[in-house]
Amino acid sequence: MTTSSNRTTIRKWLQQWPKVELHRHLEGSVRFETAWELAQENPELADWSPEQLRRAIEFDGERNFAHFLSKFETLRKLYTRPEHIQRVAAEAIEDAARDNIRYMELRFSPDHFATTSGFDRDQIADWILDSANESARLHGITVRFLLTIGRGYAPEITTRILAIALRTREKGVVGVDLAGDEIRFPAEPFAPLFTRAYDEGLGITIHAGEAGPASSVAQAVTALHAHRIGHGIRSIENPDVVALLKQREVALEVCPTSNIQTGVVDSFATHPLPALLEAGLAVVICSDDPNISRITLTDEYTTALIDMGVAPETLAQCVMNGLEHAFLSPAEKTPLREQLAAELGHVLLNSPLSRPE
Ligand SMILES: [Zn+2]
Repeated sequence: MTTSSNRTTIRKWLQQWPKVELHRHLEGSVRFETAWELAQENPELADWSPEQLRRAIEFDGERNFAHFLSKFETLRKLYTRPEHIQRVAAEAIEDAARDNIRYMELRFSPDHFATTSGFDRDQIADWILDSANESARLHGITVRFLLTIGRGYAPEITTRILAIALRTREKGVVGVDLAGDEIRFPAEPFAPLFTRAYDEGLGITIHAGEAGPASSVAQAVTALHAHRIGHGIRSIENPDVVALLKQREVALEVCPTSNIQTGVVDSFATHPLPALLEAGLAVVICSDDPNISRITLTDEYTTALIDMGVAPETLAQCVMNGLEHAFLSPAEKTPLREQLAAELGHVLLNSPLSRPE
């Protein structure tokens, strides 16, 4: 039985852990206070009460996939000036650094930020990348970026986003992501686009096996060349898919709280994370949309350890999995690997779990 003071002690300890984040959407990483200030500048939102805005952009207790996605419809209305976009990018990096994340791949879709503002997608990408890179230097965190393509996007938009990803590699863009409704929009039509991205040497991560079945994960790996899968929790339902992931060394970016809030999993007690680890898959624990879910990555580690029974040594392995499956060159990984391994060794020696009450 874990008391709340125990939980606080364990959370404090996990906060000190050096962490790696591979699945975080900038769109869902906006501080409420910032959202509130930006909303004052859009006539459509300006007369909302703080409670109304909070209900619209944060998890409000309704565990439903479409309802969770509806949060983004309000969030995309926040941006009416370039400074707004630059600000949320800088703050998202600062918040990750404060949570002791040492390496992060932050993903975003230029399309999201263009909806209300009408700004050019190329410009939006540059504002985000420049501001985030500056913030990363300031806060001592290594950051790379993924550009998100929505499953519902028109073909000309998807081609444009890939072109932006290829153009902005010197600013730290290392890959592309496919997100959105995997049931209404199968991955197959995206095969040519992602084959091109793969041939160009970009890293590929695909949201699959979240609301959709294990076969959606197999399709992401075989047709879209996925190096990593966003969620992929339903892989556990099919031993052939588990074998495929192991054979191709594909990692899963698992975001437990997000899965509960979108209603794809009933409870932490029944979440497949322990089973995926048990099956020997490379799991990386991630946060997805921390400010919609009102969590930090430390909270996800705390949940994995206390509510899902993941051992500290296994959690430390998840951090290292994150580095090994990061879209970085071997030369870039070496110093980070040494630093993370040394620090994790140190924090494991100082575990509050082994101490008497
Ligand atoms: Zn996601």
